[in-house]
Amino acid sequence: MDNKAMEQKKVNASIITIGDELLIGQVVDTNSAWMAQELNRIGIWMKRKIAVGDDRAEIIRALDNESAESDIILITGGLGPTADDITKTVLCEYFGGNMVVDEQALLHVKHIFEHILKKPVTEVNRKQAEVPDNCKVLQNPWGTAPGMWFEKNGRVFISLPGVPIEMKGIMQKYVLDALKTHFALPCILHQTVLVAGIGESVLAEVIKDWEADLPPYIKLAYLPNFGFVRLRMTGWGDDKNKLEKELEDRLATLKPLIQEWYVIDEDMTIQQVVGSILKGRKQTVGTAESCTGGYLAHLLTMDAGASSNYKGSVVSYDNQVKKDLLHVSDETLESTGAVSKETITQMVQGALDELKTDYAIATSGIMGPDGGSEGKPVGMVWIGVGNKEKIVSHCFNFRFDRQRNIELTAMNALNMLRKFIIENG
Ligand code: ATP
Repeated sequence: MDNKAMEQKKVNASIITIGDELLIGQVVDTNSAWMAQELNRIGIWMKRKIAVGDDRAEIIRALDNESAESDIILITGGLGPTADDITKTVLCEYFGGNMVVDEQALLHVKHIFEHILKKPVTEVNRKQAEVPDNCKVLQNPWGTAPGMWFEKNGRVFISLPGVPIEMKGIMQKYVLDALKTHFALPCILHQTVLVAGIGESVLAEVIKDWEADLPPYIKLAYLPNFGFVRLRMTGWGDDKNKLEKELEDRLATLKPLIQEWYVIDEDMTIQQVVGSILKGRKQTVGTAESCTGGYLAHLLTMDAGASSNYKGSVVSYDNQVKKDLLHVSDETLESTGAVSKETITQMVQGALDELKTDYAIATSGIMGPDGGSEGKPVGMVWIGVGNKEKIVSHCFNFRFDRQRNIELTAMNALNMLRKFIIENG
């Protein structure tokens, strides 16, 4: 299928998030990211996301603009009972309907107030059950404001509550299946490859011929993040098996080109990669953290099941803790300082001994903004990894702000451990 035919087959969606609190950054919009992923998963192409305030003219303008280009317009927020929540009345006006009480929604509102909240139902609460008479009502078992499905000029408009759990519930229970039935959706597949230790622009140069050879129905995205680049191929088409095979073949020709930096061809974080390698080998790791202050421990415990491969951390921010709990010697600290190869090596050894793990990671550095010196500038970090046979260490110079230096230290430490296990494990 050529590019033009593929473009014609795409079903596009726009997401409009409504609420003054989103515009001023008081609430971070997580709804649209989740919705976009779910839509994409069922073969819907994301056209645009926009945020508007609780303002009639802005909402109408957004509806006009987005429906000029998208088949599906998903709207969240502004369905509450308070005066500032105007989405429902604006939609009623936009689609030329009249407000009526939806009996099922009213029963639900009454049930919530009388049986769960044990409060009388006020007129304001009753209003939650009112909907325009020209929409299909999407009942909301998770809250009081129902969702609404409108159709106009071949476009589908879906309005959902702003509360994430309510929005997700209605999407999963009704909306995604209904969209699959309403539109003949193509298949969209992603193939992600994680690489480390190469910048985005150098990577682009390395794979430029391979990238130029991609067919029009496979798009490539570069997603750089703290020393890693996530390469994501997105393909779309009618035949899922054919598309899967094509992505597999493209991956097979890509891999030899990026072998040196290749981490994994799955959409995983580096801590998930490390966790899964350790799980596969039934081995464990512990951490001795100075400059990362427990951040490595946090990353390594983010996923359920971490206890099978992660034992714990000694957060040895102070030198006394390095001495008392990790047995770094006075002599070493005095002669070479805390940010040194010698100290980091003893920290790894101390963690291996005390935490009784197969591997240990240690970090010690100057994160800034103060504390640097000529010989040890801000951003200088020693990272060590090892097991009982061998300890390796490396000095990095990140020189960014404190937060980014901490992130980069943690990411590089995890990648060093990954490499160490593969080479020495
Ligand atoms: P309800 O009727 O249950 O109040 P609603 O549709 O009126 O729902 P809003 O009043 O717009 O929803 O938002 C309710 C809460 O939901 C907000 O305070 C905010 O915490 C959260 N919320 C709204 N929009 C978003 C969004 N796009 N991303 C994340 N959270 C959101």
